[in-house]
Amino acid sequence: MSTTLPPPVRSKSESGVQVAPPVTKAPKSNSPSRLVGSRRSILAARKAEIADSTEGLTVRRQLNNASWWAIGWLAVAHLVVLAAPFTFTWTALGVALLLHWFTGSLGICLGYHRMLTHDGMKTYPWVRNLFATIGTLAGEGSPLDWCADHRKHHKHSDQVGDPHSPHEGAWWSHMFWLAYHTHNGDRAAHLQRWVPDLYKQRWIRALDYLFLPLHIATGFALFGLGYAFGGMELAVSMLVWGMFVRLVCVLHATWLVNSASHMFGYRNYETTDDSRNNWLVAIVAYGEGWHNNHHAYPRMAKHGHRWWEFDITWMAILALKRLGLVWDVVDYRTAAEKAAKVQASEV
Ligand SMILES: [Zn+2]
Ligand SMILES: [Zn+2]
Repeated sequence: MSTTLPPPVRSKSESGVQVAPPVTKAPKSNSPSRLVGSRRSILAARKAEIADSTEGLTVRRQLNNASWWAIGWLAVAHLVVLAAPFTFTWTALGVALLLHWFTGSLGICLGYHRMLTHDGMKTYPWVRNLFATIGTLAGEGSPLDWCADHRKHHKHSDQVGDPHSPHEGAWWSHMFWLAYHTHNGDRAAHLQRWVPDLYKQRWIRALDYLFLPLHIATGFALFGLGYAFGGMELAVSMLVWGMFVRLVCVLHATWLVNSASHMFGYRNYETTDDSRNNWLVAIVAYGEGWHNNHHAYPRMAKHGHRWWEFDITWMAILALKRLGLVWDVVDYRTAAEKAAKVQASEV
């Protein structure tokens, strides 16, 4: 525990986890439509209870809850990467690195995580939609699913109900958890519970349907550009490296936050979970590796709290702030320090 950094934020309202409470009571009226509603409410309440219990994990790991879509998507991406050594070009590597930063840092870290999940800054609807769309291009699922799972992770970090705790195994927390639905069969209830705010936004919901078309379009664009500038060899190289190698690298970088940053590293704060600050993950995941800092202050948009904890996604947020595209960027640490200073001056 650091003696110089302020204590972590404890209050739920400050955690940025905006969730609706699970339905616990059935309506009182006995009219037929109400009865249907009540049965639904009871079922929804039971499902929510199960999802947050040890029973939930057993239910979740059953074959009939497997997400074949996710398994197929991730398997194809990894299989295509086997062609990488035979299709290498420096141009495609450069494009892959650029898109890695674009979709990983701007899309996932800034858009999905700090902006959508934790509401770490205010912005225009078109900017939010733009970053949500860039995040969709990272191949990690739609913003609704991603943010719902992540809010659930914060609510139950390393406890029963956490979608991806290393307590269930390192590989489970890294990638195997994705093989099963986290909603246990009732996606609408899951989303309405964990992301009621995002569920109301049309474009965010539309990205559910646009996930695959957007990836197919990106694949065609990369292939087409490669073909136009270097023929078939560069076209295939751009597709394999710019699309699949890049996707798989971004996926594993994000997954390392869930696995390695809950197992290896140091802690600035005594949080109730096992989150760690891991410098290697901070490099490959654009600042997200300062994960203990993040669990202590979930809404704070700056994840590096000490001078050496470099956070490149924070640089992008600062640039957006200077451009006037985001404002009211949440910085609880500064607020806590200010409060401490005021308190000290009053003594
Ligand atoms: Zn975590
Ligand atoms: Zn988070």
